Amino acid sequence: MDEKINAKIREEAGKLLADGKVDIVIGYEKGTLPLTSTPVFITKPEEAERLVWDEGCYQNLAKFVTDILSAHKEAQRKIRNPEDRKKKTVGIIAKGCTSRSIILHLQERQYDRDEIVIIGVPCTGYIDRKKLAILVDNEEIVEGSVSSGQVSVKTTSGEKKIALTDVLADNCITCRFNNPVISDVMAGDPAPAMQPDKEYEKIEAIEKLSTDERFAYFVKEMSKCIRCYACRQACPSCYCKICFVEQTQPQFTGLSADASDTQLFQMLRIFHMVGRCVDCGSCVNACPMGVDLRAYLKKLDKDVLELFETRAGARIEDVPPLSTYRENDKEDFIYHP
Ligand code: SF4
Ligand code: SF4
Ligand code: SF4
Repeated sequence: MDEKINAKIREEAGKLLADGKVDIVIGYEKGTLPLTSTPVFITKPEEAERLVWDEGCYQNLAKFVTDILSAHKEAQRKIRNPEDRKKKTVGIIAKGCTSRSIILHLQERQYDRDEIVIIGVPCTGYIDRKKLAILVDNEEIVEGSVSSGQVSVKTTSGEKKIALTDVLADNCITCRFNNPVISDVMAGDPAPAMQPDKEYEKIEAIEKLSTDERFAYFVKEMSKCIRCYACRQACPSCYCKICFVEQTQPQFTGLSADASDTQLFQMLRIFHMVGRCVDCGSCVNACPMGVDLRAYLKKLDKDVLELFETRAGARIEDVPPLSTYRENDKEDFIYHP
């Protein structure tokens, strides 16, 4: 935890609320378990002291911006006289992937730029709890701290030091945008680069497999899925009021957890992420069954980069590939996957 960054976050959030520039600040506070942080919603300047920024801040908070603003707008629409309707402005603590989701939301016209104030934070990645659990033999962690690239943990059977790089989430290790691509104020100096050159290493290995082998991998991974929808709920790009999964007129897919329904659900959700996934890992973290969702999301990300020369949420001036078309768009991948 960098105390200077934390102090700046609290100062900026408190000021925004005190000056009435935002109605709410979405940030992180200390979790109840060691090495965890959790989303928090601050509406009074004095509550800003609760805010933290550390290696436990894994959620992509952009998820809550669409939720809060769309609920507010829906409520305001019920006020008969348009002049009596009030605007709501949201402040948010944004790391690189969160800022990319905000750009995507702006490109997709989910809210306007003046409805959001972005406090940017330099990011060096978050701890993957599943990796950490393996390294402590699934013992309960009773105390934990991070300092100088080392994670110190106390479990029921003793103390252990683990290199932070050994427990960083895969998406963080290869992150290309660990500093926010858009912000109104920064809470610290830019963080050093991660290892983006290794971004597609795993995908390149999967691409070398035959079509049958790739399909077998898909079937194996999706057989773990219990259709809890935690991946969808955690995803800032999944903001539809009614998901295609729950639509009955027309009905796109069955609701059962049988293999074909589940595969179709996953395939459709993953395709909805074309040019829209910012690799924040929120879905992967939320999944209780350890489904390898990232393999498919990164493959699409790679294809979009190669075919449309764009990355989700990387530049505000880009038009997301699903929102436009060119007459010379390539389509051979449809016939020769
Ligand atoms: S994906 Fe990048 S910006 Fe997002 S938490 Fe990981 S390192 Fe930070
Ligand atoms: S699909 Fe997963 S990794 Fe991609 S934006 Fe959504 S939550 Fe983040
Ligand atoms: S979170 Fe995991 S188990 Fe739940 S629906 Fe998504 S992939 Fe399936």
